[in-house]
Amino acid sequence: MSTPTQFDDAALRDLIACPRCDLLHRSHRVADGCVGRCKRCHTPLIMPRAQAIPRIIALSLTVLILLVGALYFPFLELNAGGFSNSASLLDAATAFNHGLLIPLSGAVAAFMVLLPAVRVASLVYALVPLLFHQPPARYSAYALRLANRLRPWAMAEIFIIGVVVALVKIVDLADVTPGPAFWAFSVMVIILVLNDTYMCRWTLWNALTARR
Ligand SMILES: [Zn+2]
Repeated sequence: MSTPTQFDDAALRDLIACPRCDLLHRSHRVADGCVGRCKRCHTPLIMPRAQAIPRIIALSLTVLILLVGALYFPFLELNAGGFSNSASLLDAATAFNHGLLIPLSGAVAAFMVLLPAVRVASLVYALVPLLFHQPPARYSAYALRLANRLRPWAMAEIFIIGVVVALVKIVDLADVTPGPAFWAFSVMVIILVLNDTYMCRWTLWNALTARR
């Protein structure tokens, strides 16, 4: 990637800033599967992948389906001393439903369910028209921007890591059986990570603005 030497309208439109060190570059199209990196800190800036848009849409829809399944089916079942109990994902999220802990309960539900769902739904809304070679839908730019901004805040993977750590700690005290929702949520987390590997912001913005 090259650094710009003079600024005009065309150059400004082609500029891309490194999110790590702020160095400005003049962008160039990069071949699918290759990576355009910052000249100074080597942070990946452009990472186009073949068939990225249909794959992002398919993976996002899969995430939404798995999330609905994870909310509906039992998440964990505990057996200890002749007593058994099962809890759903919503039970886990709303376990702190009294007093000053209510905001914590809302935050858990938002970070592990609501934000990932809003993020993938925004991606589907913004990208589906491009898949059918149609002009972008109204507010699609806002939807794509929202999906990018929610990326650090959608913490489904942090939740599943916490659940696994908790399971290791209580497995000696009770029989713990992961339910269908646990597996659905675990697969959803893997698909979210896979989806992010296709998310090249520069490529998606270019695809969106080119169809306007
Ligand atoms: Zn940099």
